[in-house]
Amino acid sequence: MFVITDSCVSCGTCAGACPVEAISEGADHYEIDQDLCVSCGTCIANCPVEAIEEQ
Ligand code: SF4
Ligand code: SF4
Repeated sequence: MFVITDSCVSCGTCAGACPVEAISEGADHYEIDQDLCVSCGTCIANCPVEAIEEQ
């Protein structure tokens, strides 16, 4: 699964890049809805601070 870590600076780039709109702003940082994510990896490629990990 793809996870956004505490390194996220809430820039919103990944949310705009996700083809299925699985990413939204959470309480502390952006979050991925695991029920919507299709594991395409686009968000990882677009995060400027490498805050998204595949676990
Ligand atoms: S891996 Fe793809 S589908 Fe999943 S959150 Fe990232 S961009 Fe969206
Ligand atoms: S692109 Fe990276 S820093 Fe920006 S909101 Fe997404 S996870 Fe956070």
